[in-house]
Amino acid sequence: MRRILLLATTTGYQTRAFGDAAARLGVELVFATDRCRSLEDPWQDHAVPIRFYDEDASVTALLEAVAARPIDGLLVVGDRPTVIGARVAERLGLPWHPPAGASAARHKQVTRERLRDAGLPVPWWIPITLNAQLSTLSEPSALSPQPFSYPCVVKPVVLSGSRGVMRADDPATFAAAFERLRALMRQPEVRAERNEAHADALVEGFIPGREYALEGLMHHGVLHALAIFDKPDPLDGPFFEETVYLTPSSATDEVQRAIIDGVTRAAGALGLRHGPIHAECRVNADGVFVLEVAARPIGGLCARALRFQSAICHLPSAISLEELLLRHALGEDPAPYRREAIASGVMMIPIPRRGILRRVDGIDEARQVPGVDEIHITAKPDQLLVPLPEGASYLGFIFARAERACDVERALRDAHARLAFAIDPEFPVITPGQIHYNLLHG
Ligand code: ADP
Repeated sequence: MRRILLLATTTGYQTRAFGDAAARLGVELVFATDRCRSLEDPWQDHAVPIRFYDEDASVTALLEAVAARPIDGLLVVGDRPTVIGARVAERLGLPWHPPAGASAARHKQVTRERLRDAGLPVPWWIPITLNAQLSTLSEPSALSPQPFSYPCVVKPVVLSGSRGVMRADDPATFAAAFERLRALMRQPEVRAERNEAHADALVEGFIPGREYALEGLMHHGVLHALAIFDKPDPLDGPFFEETVYLTPSSATDEVQRAIIDGVTRAAGALGLRHGPIHAECRVNADGVFVLEVAARPIGGLCARALRFQSAICHLPSAISLEELLLRHALGEDPAPYRREAIASGVMMIPIPRRGILRRVDGIDEARQVPGVDEIHITAKPDQLLVPLPEGASYLGFIFARAERACDVERALRDAHARLAFAIDPEFPVITPGQIHYNLLHG
């Protein structure tokens, strides 16, 4: 039986989806994840436990594991294990993104440098350290001879999912963003990543324009664009929470070609060659600004918005992104695969405010909206909801399909409007009855 090593940031839905796809293909998965995280163990604990922060030890552990159970291919999901996966692939001689490329793609400042050196459009940027005193940073221009202007964006160099990314419009909002980012990077959960780069941040020019995401699969240096997603909600800050993704894109053919060209060049500049990529870019009159190209597929549940058909082999039904990625990891060329013809989209349900989630009402009504495929509420009752820029999760996901992308968008928004979230403040609520009781009983 053919075997694939799957390195994943967290266990959960995405790894189960890979498990299902592997079962269909008759492939065995060897699963590896960070042992510190709670392990759901979808395959009854055959997982290889590794520590993402200790790359050398992780690579050694994985090489030992695959010596005992040889693999035919490898896949990485989530940002944190991308470099470890690339190092293992290199040692085993498996085609994949080179470690240097995966590492550059994960670091926002290195990404900027590589894209600039390749002549691609980039905003101005200034590296800053979060160890600096704010008094020396009343404006980043004080630190650097480079041009500086508002609006700008303050961001950590290696977090993902828009965490810690904030817009500043003047010195006061810059100071607030700087302090907020510093506090975020000092949170125990971020410190637990033990990443020295967490002391570093970037200030860069705000790029106006429309934002798109490109999901792609690189095959020996050639990019196959699997989907371009429109992000129809304006992402102008102060925080940058992703909400709706729609495909096919409503951008003109010319803009779509420019996006594919920009991402191809950016991936080449970073040194990415083989395996999935997920890119974000902003498009305005000055061109396509590639914000990042991650050496991994789209995150978690969102992959459910994508299904593929092959132009050459007859598949009984459209296949999932996970199945396509497994086929590719086994050496199949992705060129004949096309996204299904129907329009599709996902809403990452935003967290409206910080607090304890008690209940979500209206799910059945929302499921009745024509076009809605699925609704998953991933936040758990009594969970503390933390919005961006500190938070790292969504409330859940709504998926829809329809003939046209505009109908998908309408379905997603209608369904969302039918959901009601009961969120309590974090501090304990004292009811009038309890006050009365306390008064009576001292
Ligand atoms: P992450 O890797 O955490 O997603 P990004 O650097 O891609 O971080 O930024 C997240 C989001 O913040 C982007 O998708 C975009 O909406 C917004 N953003 C980031 N940098 C800029 C910028 N220079 N100008 C405008 N928007 C930006």
